[in-house]
Amino acid sequence: MTDSTPIDELARADVRALPLYAPDAANALVDLSDNTNLWGTPPAVMRSLGEGPPSAMARYPSLYGSPLRRAVLHYLGFADTDDLAVLTGCGSDDIIDSTMRAFGEPGERVAFSSPTFTMVPLFARLNGLTPVAVPLTAEFDIDAQRLVECRAKITYLCAPNNPTATAVSRAAVEYVISHAPGIVLLDEAYAEFAPEIFADLLATRPRLIVARTFSKAFGLAGLRIGVGVGSKRLIEFVARARGPYKVTSLAERAALAALDPAPDGLPWVLARAADAVHNRDRMIAELQRLGFAPLPSATNFIMIPTARARMLAGRLAEHGVIVRAFTGLPQEIPAFADNGSSALRISIGPWAMLQVVLDRLAELGP
Ligand code: PMP
Repeated sequence: MTDSTPIDELARADVRALPLYAPDAANALVDLSDNTNLWGTPPAVMRSLGEGPPSAMARYPSLYGSPLRRAVLHYLGFADTDDLAVLTGCGSDDIIDSTMRAFGEPGERVAFSSPTFTMVPLFARLNGLTPVAVPLTAEFDIDAQRLVECRAKITYLCAPNNPTATAVSRAAVEYVISHAPGIVLLDEAYAEFAPEIFADLLATRPRLIVARTFSKAFGLAGLRIGVGVGSKRLIEFVARARGPYKVTSLAERAALAALDPAPDGLPWVLARAADAVHNRDRMIAELQRLGFAPLPSATNFIMIPTARARMLAGRLAEHGVIVRAFTGLPQEIPAFADNGSSALRISIGPWAMLQVVLDRLAELGP
């Protein structure tokens, strides 16, 4: 290294190898690419943002926000007397990243199913860890035994799974949590749309951390807030790795308002999630009618394996409709092997948005 070494060579090799996250939603008429709440933000949140003492923004936010802890625990079916802690993060991204940093010594393994949330292997590399991908089964369940056999320090589960939208079985989740050697990170970003969730396992599993986000059903993606819930001992280490002041006081206030039992708070959120589930099932039926073969969905999005994914996404984008095309999906999974390892992922929102997609796909064909 000299004083003329190019900046590119000064950057860490793992960072040089990473792509810049750059979703292309500019000029979108209809953006169905990121699984956020397309109905918007709960009215109770909008009200709450104008409230609060004028000094609130001049001071640092609370460090480990206890009113939010109570609200999150109640929402998950626990009492605030339970031996559980809640840590906020700048999105659940921050919880995933901080958990890896807290428990993964550089060089140790992070195991996860493939395909899963694309940031997981990237966070692993950024933290000097080795990502190990285990394909989902042909039925899109977690391959619990193979995951455990990775003997990873951190095993990441996404239930329901992004990007496949598919549910995960309780038997597989319980097997991994019972047999994985280190920490299990269970990401339930899409819990509000799923027929079954597993946060109840926190009651008996001190090595489990559950990540939840306010970016999806709760309509707060722009404010960036997620939480990690786990035993007090486990969360303390994640908090140390996270560092202070990652969540703004406005985001914390908004999250509390979104969990408020007032009709325009949590009931609004749950009613919109029910709308999403209704539209999702209707959309799946309409797509099948057009000759597509969408995977079953337990989320607010749908994955459609198709060899034409990239072309279809490009043609939709020409009409201002943004969906995600996935390529390089695991060949071990027959639904992907049969479709050139590629698939489309479409978020679910108000029906008028979905009708625009259907009209275009009807022209383009399966
Ligand atoms: N987990 C999953 C499975 C996701 O799909 C996402 C967002 N795409 C996140 C976590 C991160 O969400 P956020 O950081 O906005 O909470």
